[in-house]
Amino acid sequence: MLFINRLAQQMPEICFSQLSTPMQDPQWIIGSQKAAQLLDFNNPQMGLSWLSGHSIAVGMDPVSTVYSGHQFGGYTPQLGDGRALLLGEYLNESGQAWELQLKGSGLTPFSRQGDGKAVLRSSIREFLASEALAAQGIPTTRALGLVTGSGKVVREQLEFEAMVLRLAPSFLRFGHFEYLYHQQHHESLKRLIDFSLRHYFPQLLDSPNPVAAMLQEISRLTAVMIAHWQASGFCHGVMNSDNMSILGLTIDYGPFGFLESYDPTHICNHSDSYGRYAFDQQPAVGLWNLQRLGQALSAFVSPEEQQLCWQVYQAQINHSLQHLMALRLGLDEFNESDEILIRELLDILQEKKLDYHQSLRSLQNLDQASSSFGPVWMHKYLARISSSALTEVQRVAQICDNNPCYVLRNHLAQSCIEAAQQGDYEALITLHTALETPYLQNPEFLHLDKAAPDWAANIQVSCSS
Ligand code: AMP
Ligand code: MG
Ligand code: MG
Repeated sequence: MLFINRLAQQMPEICFSQLSTPMQDPQWIIGSQKAAQLLDFNNPQMGLSWLSGHSIAVGMDPVSTVYSGHQFGGYTPQLGDGRALLLGEYLNESGQAWELQLKGSGLTPFSRQGDGKAVLRSSIREFLASEALAAQGIPTTRALGLVTGSGKVVREQLEFEAMVLRLAPSFLRFGHFEYLYHQQHHESLKRLIDFSLRHYFPQLLDSPNPVAAMLQEISRLTAVMIAHWQASGFCHGVMNSDNMSILGLTIDYGPFGFLESYDPTHICNHSDSYGRYAFDQQPAVGLWNLQRLGQALSAFVSPEEQQLCWQVYQAQINHSLQHLMALRLGLDEFNESDEILIRELLDILQEKKLDYHQSLRSLQNLDQASSSFGPVWMHKYLARISSSALTEVQRVAQICDNNPCYVLRNHLAQSCIEAAQQGDYEALITLHTALETPYLQNPEFLHLDKAAPDWAANIQVSCSS
């Protein structure tokens, strides 16, 4: 196996050698075959010995990294990998490099008041969400698998500890750049920029100003990611700038949630009292975070160049969202007038408190849709699809291919978590299987294709766990 560890070697000032704390009695719970394929592993359990923190492979150079970030709008000068460990960078057979990161691996210099651990509950949520978003084509970090141990950790109550092994081409965050900027480590900041350009944006090295081109590309990638969130009803919950990936990947799954009955003002994070990260705020917060990154890059990117980045962000988010919504509604393309058609449908969903996912998918059946959405809107929709280039069969197929039957609803995750806490992983494995092919209706998964039961209203998820 080949490890290259470029960040640890080339940016030693933000990387601190660190070993994981081995877990007691590690027990494999679940893995993702699809994530394993990214590493050319036959089986996710090939990562088991690293996952429990018991061994490192020859060539790995585990480090925890320092970053800072704006949390709920305020600057925190030092955060960092408080319970995560970058094990190394793995080269697969096609020469792609994947950073492997443990989450829940014990104390690091950046653990602050925390214990460096992750609990089974949040590890299951991170595992399922990473793989569910990936299956819906939403840019995200991946999860190879997770283990739990016999040790317990203190949260609101005692909970089982767990570790997830996650994968991404890079785990660099806006916060890594903010840290070096605010510490006035100009030389290091320049080297981190050069590092990022060389390894992640080499196509931009010949631009008139490669740093401006990189900020613009990060803005574009972030816009694409957030457009996917908005179209799929995903609410991240804690969009601090330290939780923003420079590759536009969904990262750091915590108090996330999918919309169920459609409410654009939905706040999924129980600790977000003011709704800073409410669903409909995400596009604006994405821009705000990019502007914090822009500030960190201000020595290299002029205000005019930054303005252009923000324009690119706005244009890309609109364009991607329109495209994704046209796909979901079974339209051949997005026309100007579709803006109103989509707006009016969402207004109906909101007013009638209809389930976002099931409602959009129900458009495959025009009779059913008509009884849900009413004749006025339906008349407009029928007129629109009659002028579409798609045949009826194509329209139905497009709707089925773009509207998942299986969504990681909080109550589904919660049921699996409660069973897993009793040592029963069957429900978890079934849910993961359904979420891996979310568009494929399967009679075995009928129980997973239902809106939330009443008790789900009491599920509370909040920041760190
Ligand atoms: P998060 O809300 O998960 O993005 O975490 C914010 C910061 O708190 C990051 O620097 C984390 O590494 C750190 N952190 C969160 N939970 C823990 C924990 N249990 N132990 C140590 N550090 C933590
Ligand atoms: Mg070092
Ligand atoms: Mg974080």
